[in-house]
Amino acid sequence: MEYPIFVTRPYLPPKEEYDRLTDEIWNNRWLTNQGAVLQRFEAALADYLEVPQVSTVVNGHMALDIAIKALELTGEVITTPFTFASTTHAIVQNGLTPVFCDIDEHTLTMDVSKIEALITERTSAILAVHVYGHPCDMQAIENIAQKHGLKVIYDAAHAFGVRVDGKSIVTYGDISIFSFHATKLFHSVEGGMLYARDPELLRKCNLLRNYGIENEILVSSPGGNAKMSEFHAAMGLLVLKRIDELIEERRTITQRYRENLKDLPGLLLCDSTAPNASYNYAYMPSRILPEFPVDRDELYESLKESGIYTRRYFYPLTSDFACYENKFANAQVSVAKMVASQILALPIYNGLTSEEVDYICQCIRRSG
Ligand SMILES: *Cc1c(COP(=O)(O)O)cnc(C)c1O
Repeated sequence: MEYPIFVTRPYLPPKEEYDRLTDEIWNNRWLTNQGAVLQRFEAALADYLEVPQVSTVVNGHMALDIAIKALELTGEVITTPFTFASTTHAIVQNGLTPVFCDIDEHTLTMDVSKIEALITERTSAILAVHVYGHPCDMQAIENIAQKHGLKVIYDAAHAFGVRVDGKSIVTYGDISIFSFHATKLFHSVEGGMLYARDPELLRKCNLLRNYGIENEILVSSPGGNAKMSEFHAAMGLLVLKRIDELIEERRTITQRYRENLKDLPGLLLCDSTAPNASYNYAYMPSRILPEFPVDRDELYESLKESGIYTRRYFYPLTSDFACYENKFANAQVSVAKMVASQILALPIYNGLTSEEVDYICQCIRRSG
């Protein structure tokens, strides 16, 4: 066993394969701006996701930023507080107001029955998150959006490889985004991607990632720079080649956790994949309920003493961040608050052995 055990560990492809691609980049001397390796990576992604084309970017956060700009959102955006900082910051950094909707206790995604009450004449969009790769209730969100003329962005940062009704989850909403950060299931060191079914909208996203430059003399929008480099694309290509095996290995790890912990009172392994969806086993979120002999923070500390680094992922809620200075203190998010106080993400990554999972589970039982 390797100590300490971290909550995640990035997957690395065989070094020789990466060397071969870097040799090619050296020979081309084309390091960024839609080089040959990036073009192959985008084609491979489109092929894997079964979509006509995709727009890669430098990270998932810039993908959210570009999505918001491309849809020209204004005023208020209805969103979830049970997410990574990026989702809420992207809204605020664009001069918009996040309006926090509570989450469903089972799926931990936005509680769609509470969205309509939050809509005002200033609302322009819903930005929902497929948290831990669990799909949102996209049919209900689509219906609400159509009825009220709202745009829909899905933050699918956790959901690479997830399919719903036989289609990649990225094909839903006006725009969906992925993060390819090193800690995500699928990664390109740093990276991200946007997809929009409307080709004109995807073209707009492409322009926003490169200063709005259409050609040598025509600059059509005041875009920024969010281009992915050849070296990042090379890593992405090599990890993508193995993505199905990586998901399969994580499925086995997840099963081992479930068997080991199935009859432990007070510890709930979150499992909320819809019957019409495939799962990617990106995370191993658990909830430490009041019946468990110690509380979530005590378990977190005691595991740390045994060399196991779990994460309180997501705690605190983004609506409670210090930088927002209690501006959102009256948001009606009691379920999200409760879940945030119970949530503990257990270690899962490619290469985590059965012995290590058994050790983690033993330590959890001993803490309880
Ligand atoms: C990781 C993450 C992001 C941001 O992606 P980066 O590639 O790290 O910029 C956005 N939203 C969620 C939910 C994430 O987990």
